Amino acid sequence: MPIINSLAEYADDIAHWRRDLHRNPELLYDLERTAGIVAEKLREFGCDEVVEGIGRTGVVGVVKGREEGETVIGLRADMDALPIQEETGKPWASEVPGRMHACGHDGHTAMLLGAARYLAQTRNFAGRAVLIFQPAEEGGAGARAMIEDGLMERFGIVEVYGMHNMPGLPVGQFGIRSGPLMAAADHFSIQIEGKGGHAAKPHQGVDPVLVGTEIVGALQSIVARNVDPLKNAVVSVTTFHAGDAFNVTPQRATLTGTVRTLEPGIRDLVERRMSEMIPAIGAAFGATARFTYKRNYPVTVNHAEQTEKAIEVARSVVGEKAVLTDNPPMMGGEDFSFMLEARPGAFIFVGNGDSAGLHHPAYDFNDSAIPYGASYWASLVERLMPA
Ligand SMILES: [Zn+2]
Ligand SMILES: [Zn+2]
Repeated sequence: MPIINSLAEYADDIAHWRRDLHRNPELLYDLERTAGIVAEKLREFGCDEVVEGIGRTGVVGVVKGREEGETVIGLRADMDALPIQEETGKPWASEVPGRMHACGHDGHTAMLLGAARYLAQTRNFAGRAVLIFQPAEEGGAGARAMIEDGLMERFGIVEVYGMHNMPGLPVGQFGIRSGPLMAAADHFSIQIEGKGGHAAKPHQGVDPVLVGTEIVGALQSIVARNVDPLKNAVVSVTTFHAGDAFNVTPQRATLTGTVRTLEPGIRDLVERRMSEMIPAIGAAFGATARFTYKRNYPVTVNHAEQTEKAIEVARSVVGEKAVLTDNPPMMGGEDFSFMLEARPGAFIFVGNGDSAGLHHPAYDFNDSAIPYGASYWASLVERLMPA
């Protein structure tokens, strides 16, 4: 069973919806137009249930198969755009200055709508498909908001699946792996309080710039000397602010950065080592260094059994060779991780071809990926819940 024919026939419609969403990007939870269109279409397609306002602006559509079944599968798309000025020059470019769909969530939403239409028409399965359209993937933890609003229990979801387009992966291919696929994405800040004064009299002050550079250097030793060489972590100091004048030792310095890890144990280790090192280095220089660490999205961990099912379904759409089953993990974060903590499931990449990278002003979702992504969704429902 390759691409589902009727979905290939819908591809123009789906691309049309996608481009309309692309012209009108909305951010985080402020998805009035986008969520409104999604709910309207789900009703128009004849979904058995359409619920709005889950996790603030999330939308859920339920399609029952033609036979009753035990299984309930959740399929998730994200709907939000990014605060980036678009530079694609495409006819369907964003009409809102400073905002664009630079992560392809317009494509994700449109593909899941396409699958919803097909499933509501054909109903060739036994059980229920729950179509999840979530807000605020880009830093707002919309997946968690929907879960906290009772998403899993309310619709009886047993397994949950997610998909993201991937630049660099050829169109018509899928990439996936069992276990950690995307990183935990945390951020930290460091406040160094020194003693300011005349730059010509350093001995009378405590220089927070020097303390900051010692901390930046020491933090590199966590990956080099504390993390097992066969495991992964990123510790990056990305901002360093201190001082306003060349002849003044500043009073304080502020540093911020990000930590990316692929395993809970490594995440704990990095946070612990940072909390041990930073105040101690400050004290060693006579300064005070305060450290705050904020855990953001957890690691996106694919469950083994559901990954196998996802691979089998993806192979049914594009053939055996077009499914990369050991896609290397990526250090980007993804809030589908919260859904995979709540239920077993798997997250898969669908090839976006040779496009600009995600979050780049020249990025655009590749409409030629639509038949593959939408067929994957529909096949997942039909093959995992056969009638
Ligand atoms: Zn993104
Ligand atoms: Zn994204």
